[in-house]
Amino acid sequence: MAKSAKTEKKELDLPDILPLLPVRDIVVFPHMVLPLFVGREMSVKAIEQAVSGNRMVLLATQKTLEVEKPKPKDIYTLGTIGTIMRMLKLSDGRIKILVQGIAKAKIVSFTKSTPYFQVKVEKIKEPSTDKLSPEVEAIVRTVKQQMEKAISFGKFLVPDVIALIENIEDPGRLSDLVVSNLGLKVEAAQEILETIDPGERLNKVSHLLAKELHVMTMQQKIQTEAKGEMDKVQREYFLKEQLKAIQKELGEVDERAKEIEEFKEKIAEVKMPEKVEKEATKQLRRLEQMHPDSAEASTVRTYLEWMVELPWDKQTKDKLNIITAKKVLDEDHYDLERIKERILEYLAVRKMNKKMKGPILCFVGPPGVGKTSLGKSIARALGRKFVRISLGGIRDEAEIRGHRRTYVGALPGRLIQGMKQAGTANPVFMMDEIDKIGTDFRGDPSSALLEVLDPEQNNAFSDHYLGVPFDLSRVMFITTANQMDPIPSPLRDRMEVIELAGYTTEEKIGIARDFLLPRQLEEHGTSEKWVGLSDASLEKIISSYTREAGVRNLEREIARVLRKIARRLAEGKMKRTVVTPANLHQFLGIPKFLPEMEQEKDEVGVATGMAWTPTGGDIIRIEATLMKGKGELTLTGSLGDVMKESARAALSYIRSMEKTLKIKPESFSKSDLHIHVPAGAIPKDGPSAGITIAVAMTSALSTKPIRRDVAMTGEITLRGRVLPVGGLKEKILAAKRAGMKTVILPKQNEKDLDEIPNHLLKGLDFIFADHMETVLDAVFRKKKTSKPPRPKKTGRRLKTASQGAARHP
Ligand code: ADP
Repeated sequence: MAKSAKTEKKELDLPDILPLLPVRDIVVFPHMVLPLFVGREMSVKAIEQAVSGNRMVLLATQKTLEVEKPKPKDIYTLGTIGTIMRMLKLSDGRIKILVQGIAKAKIVSFTKSTPYFQVKVEKIKEPSTDKLSPEVEAIVRTVKQQMEKAISFGKFLVPDVIALIENIEDPGRLSDLVVSNLGLKVEAAQEILETIDPGERLNKVSHLLAKELHVMTMQQKIQTEAKGEMDKVQREYFLKEQLKAIQKELGEVDERAKEIEEFKEKIAEVKMPEKVEKEATKQLRRLEQMHPDSAEASTVRTYLEWMVELPWDKQTKDKLNIITAKKVLDEDHYDLERIKERILEYLAVRKMNKKMKGPILCFVGPPGVGKTSLGKSIARALGRKFVRISLGGIRDEAEIRGHRRTYVGALPGRLIQGMKQAGTANPVFMMDEIDKIGTDFRGDPSSALLEVLDPEQNNAFSDHYLGVPFDLSRVMFITTANQMDPIPSPLRDRMEVIELAGYTTEEKIGIARDFLLPRQLEEHGTSEKWVGLSDASLEKIISSYTREAGVRNLEREIARVLRKIARRLAEGKMKRTVVTPANLHQFLGIPKFLPEMEQEKDEVGVATGMAWTPTGGDIIRIEATLMKGKGELTLTGSLGDVMKESARAALSYIRSMEKTLKIKPESFSKSDLHIHVPAGAIPKDGPSAGITIAVAMTSALSTKPIRRDVAMTGEITLRGRVLPVGGLKEKILAAKRAGMKTVILPKQNEKDLDEIPNHLLKGLDFIFADHMETVLDAVFRKKKTSKPPRPKKTGRRLKTASQGAARHP
């Protein structure tokens, strides 16, 4: 009842005919209170008319701001009836009023147009909103939250309005209140005004608010970022200034200027070639212009450090005197007479012809035979510096030539690194393991090496990192390798190869006694006064604790013995210690190797072969066993394809010769043959065990025992011919070490024996075979009753050591 009475009253209060006040740039909503300045004559008249009556006007918005004298079509038809709460006449003739919106009304017609517009209006009834649907209630809450958010982003609202918004539940009033505070454009505000349904209206308001909030968020973000950026820059600047001030206070010179100055001095000092100096100066200028802490500056700095530390011009003076050179070589090395001769010849030729850019020395031999130590002696004899790099496992050309500076952490290649280490432009430069360089997709290191070793090209070696040529022509290169075969042939052609075989036990004893022992005694701070190590003990160390072609492990074992003795002395037991073969185990523990002649008697199916290994030679016992079966051949012991094929060739040869060899035919069809090559875990390959396998097979099939003191090597063909093999020196040494009496070699290898020092051949009988017949004849013992052997067509025996010596003067 109360409500309807109120509505009734409102309706009664509002007249139908009203003066019109066209407003510009704003849309007035019901309940809104706002001040207006009225200047246009027409409007002033309308106000005066209203004030003289019930103080009411229709406030309708002009469609365009600029129109000074609007016509009815220029004015929106929907407006708000307002009551004038206060009026003030200003001195310039304008009027200031305070109006409050009361209700929406629509212009039905213009009843008068002079001196002001008078209109007939029709009030607009809004649908009732006593009961809110959940949807509308949701929008009400959303709009309130949106307003809160806008306020938190800094939207300014009068505190009263904020409180009002919080308390209003009516969607129509809420939307009007919010809209009037949003500062919308006229069109948008008018659209809201014309939306009569309160729920719909509030929905539109909510959309507008969302848009507004999005803009505000963006604005906020941009502002914070800009502020953050400013803060950082300012902070850094401030700190730097502070730092400078502190340094100045402490009397420190500007580090940067000092650094540049130092580089400048060094560049002048190292006397670079002109072109190089230009580049260095250029880089220095770049450094000067960079921020000293930038990543690029540190790259340039590293580069300059390399440039000023390389020996561009610094050289040692050669003292090339052949007699002193010989003295030095003799001082450092036991025996090796022929090798020393060749080295001295090489040096003599260099001396005679200074311009000669001769071949490069290459020492080939197993580890520990003195290759490095010869290189060092050469350097000492010439008064040059010695550097050594290892090429083992290099696959990447960049390891030789360096990486371009554009790579992070780039460095020069090993050659330039070696030169820096040497510190002079003419060192003796040893490159180890030249046989172990590889090739793959990262480029071919050996082609880079070719350039290094080529006297025609190496005066302008280009390293990718340096980017300027470096002169390597004054360097004396020496290369080393364990094997000849893997060295790429263009490289091999540039080199003068000197082969160093392994040492015999006697030689090792000599080296140990004259060189290793004195050196180790000194290193352990003792002397012969306190230690007695006889030749017999050395021999025991060699045979039971080492197995090698060189003397590296021997030196290590001697050091172990001396460590124990040094400790005793340090503990105060001042007594001379004598090491004997009998008490050696106290120093070195139980023997690591058993003597090789462990076979006590001749056995069926066990043949002794000689094998080449990277650490020297070794003997291997190849075993063959026959068992019941169907004629199958089994091969075990990690054998490569070539070795397997040569076993098949051996079997085929034997089968074709069964009559001559007195083998029963059913041996093949009714049994399986198993060949095993120890040590099973080490991969083996190559054809050189062919005759050894054939001998083991023949023995197993014919049940004849094989002489255990005969060692053999050679490739076999299907017809039983014996073909030549390599690595003779190491193989013969291994046979000798193992106590063999007779060695069977391919006939075609006979000439190679000339290359082998006589003392290595001493004590061995040699049989040169070009056919299996000769081999088989030698490996099986003759029955005592058999006739004396007739001289072989193809075999040749070197019966005694003296004969051997005579043949190899
Ligand atoms: P490689 O370079 O051939 O592997 P090293 O030159 O390093 O071998 O030699 C190993 C050790 O053996 C060194 O201490 C070296 O002095 C010593 N040595 C090798 N052969 C001899 C020798 N004939 N006389 C004296 N010492 C030797």
